[in-house]
Amino acid sequence: MKPKKILRVAVPRPLYSLLDYQCSETLTVQQGCRVNVPLGYGTSIGIVVEITDKSEFKRLRKVLSVLDKKPLIEKSALALLYWASRYYHHPVGAVIFNAIPISLRKGKALPMMTLWQINTDTLDTAASLLDRAHKQRQVWEFIKTNIADDWISESQIKTALETQNISSWRNVLRALQKKELIQAKQVEARFIPSVCDNALEDNKTIILTDEQQTILSTLDRFYQDKRIKPVLLHGITGSGKTEIYLRTIKPILKQKQQVLILVPEIGLTPQLFQRFQHYFPHDTVAVTHSALSKSERTLIWQAVKNQHIDILIGTRSAVFAPLPVLGIIIVDEEHDSSFKQQEGFRYHGRDLAVKRAFDLNIPIILGSATPALESLQNVELKRYHYLRLNSRPGTRKRPEVVVYDIRGESLEAGLSSLLLKKVKQHIKAGNQAMLFLNRRGFAPLLYCPSCGWHASCPSCNTNMTYHAGQQKTICHHCYYQQAVKSTCPECHHEGITTQGQGTERIEHVLTSRFPETPVIRIDRDTTNRKDALNNKLKVVNQGKPVILIGTQMLTKGHDFPNLTLVGILDIDQALSSMDYRAQEQLAQQIVQVSGRAGRGEHKGQVLLQTSQPKHPLLTHLLSKGYLNVCQQLLSEREMWNYPPFGFQVLIRTSSIDQIEGLNLLYQLNNELTVECQQIPDISLFGPVASPLEKRANRYRAQLLISSKNRRVLHQTLSNSITKLQHYKKPSDIRWSVDVDPLSML
Ligand code: ADP
Ligand code: ZN
Ligand code: ZN
Repeated sequence: MKPKKILRVAVPRPLYSLLDYQCSETLTVQQGCRVNVPLGYGTSIGIVVEITDKSEFKRLRKVLSVLDKKPLIEKSALALLYWASRYYHHPVGAVIFNAIPISLRKGKALPMMTLWQINTDTLDTAASLLDRAHKQRQVWEFIKTNIADDWISESQIKTALETQNISSWRNVLRALQKKELIQAKQVEARFIPSVCDNALEDNKTIILTDEQQTILSTLDRFYQDKRIKPVLLHGITGSGKTEIYLRTIKPILKQKQQVLILVPEIGLTPQLFQRFQHYFPHDTVAVTHSALSKSERTLIWQAVKNQHIDILIGTRSAVFAPLPVLGIIIVDEEHDSSFKQQEGFRYHGRDLAVKRAFDLNIPIILGSATPALESLQNVELKRYHYLRLNSRPGTRKRPEVVVYDIRGESLEAGLSSLLLKKVKQHIKAGNQAMLFLNRRGFAPLLYCPSCGWHASCPSCNTNMTYHAGQQKTICHHCYYQQAVKSTCPECHHEGITTQGQGTERIEHVLTSRFPETPVIRIDRDTTNRKDALNNKLKVVNQGKPVILIGTQMLTKGHDFPNLTLVGILDIDQALSSMDYRAQEQLAQQIVQVSGRAGRGEHKGQVLLQTSQPKHPLLTHLLSKGYLNVCQQLLSEREMWNYPPFGFQVLIRTSSIDQIEGLNLLYQLNNELTVECQQIPDISLFGPVASPLEKRANRYRAQLLISSKNRRVLHQTLSNSITKLQHYKKPSDIRWSVDVDPLSML
């Protein structure tokens, strides 16, 4: 008997496994194609993940039709998605369908575009047919004179005709087509690359330092190995990592392979785009991230798939891009927690990039000035190579860091008099200054000194942040907003006031203190409009004296040559945080922010204001350096079996009732406790109410499962998911799992 053809299909339902379908031999189908399959009483679109000849089920339903001739998702991306759905225990259909453009999820075809051309057979009759149709004649002439014998796209026609004030050009085209004077053809929509701003300095003339040269030749040697290991490139800020990236990918582009560059923030993409496009003017560079429109993303997705894009720069979801000839992956700022998605499908972009590179046996470079503890541990375990860039090219020197004790000092909006004096000095000297504060808004608290009322969010158990510009209080957890009145809503007292400060307040103080100097605030509130960040950065890059104030958006990758002073405000809260990751993150932040100073010819200065100047983290960091702090933190983590020595998963619930979610976790915890007596490797912590217990009117609770044995942990999690699916529970309860959680909030 001939073996059966069986398709293993992902459908967009909350299912953790693939569904098996029988496929008639006459249908041609490949992995990554969409199919129409019967599901329940109806039908559904599915994506073929595997093709096999066996199934553990006897009676299989039949595939109804195949929608694609060629795979929509290329093999390595499909394999990665399937693997990720199992590793992160997220429904396979949700994971795979999310990776394709929305219009394709519903079964639509790939977007097409229309191209037009003159019909040369009717050239002679045109004159008489267009005799009285003035507009049509104009359009016909345009197509004729502009294209000789080539096809022209509708968007080209549109642009040209709108300048001639012909607005109903679409109708005109149809009329001409009806008269058979022009003809149309449909092709797959094409991505039009953006143009590079040529004002950039010519970085091809840069001569690499000896240190950079050594790194390049070492990389070359590494890539001769049969099994290519990931490389952790630890280079202080401004040490020239990007130059290394540019030169490493050169031979790869030459071989017509594609390059994937992952960055943590959208804000970093325009600069990188410029630098890469400028260096490789003959290759196509594109940027993809969530702020693009659906159609833009679809076009880029298609172009990547059709190999029309050579270098793709993107945020975390780009790790799933359908790159058929991927040759290298670069993860810049690999330590950044934005690589982890914090809701829904909670994957880690960097970790998946490492997995994708491993499967393809291609190079991957993880670059950072402050590598994550996990990555350093992988170096320790010889899973990663380690390369270090220790100095800045040329005369650029490392900044000098001063810890300034603010105890007993009266501050102005959180600013010490020393810091204000320094800002004045640096501005006067013609340089730029930057203040870093990781809190946006005017003040974190708005309250009434008379009765004690304070603005709190009715849906979350947190205070609302006061935003002076909008005269509103805003909840930073659920975005609930309320207009602010000048009198207290409780006692009608007329002097409600604020406590603490955010970036907006600092901006106010600095503007009144330094009326002559532009004060530029960079945080999520001032940069949410398209191009806002870019425009602000342009002003800074002109190099004139400015005072920058911003949140962590400022700490990432931006290069300000004339910046000589950095002030770090309000780190005391982070110093005393209970979260075991807080110290690692704070050390990274201090090193990153400090690294912004003195990248140009002038030596930089960093002033760190704190009321805990003797805190071991600070003294250790400043006397012994980042790596030394990491060693210390790693040995603490080892003692407690925290990651990367132990592995964790977090099961979260949320419910409208305060205890329902908690009860569900108790039920799970009780069963697991009994079952895990045979598995000594598993530890359960909780259930507890989450640190941020009430958010958007829902009460949140969590149970942490941890183990030194990853396999056992994942088995326990699968088992827990089955239980959670089967428990009887009120309909409003939601639960979710977070594998390798970064945030415990
Ligand atoms: P990183 O990515 O490590 O922060 P960059 O590659 O952005 O560092 O380099 C910082 C600055 O130094 C850039 O302006 C870059 O053009 C410049 N630079 C890098 N390498 C050299 C070099 N060998 N000689 C001169 N300038 C260099
Ligand atoms: Zn009051
Ligand atoms: Zn809220």
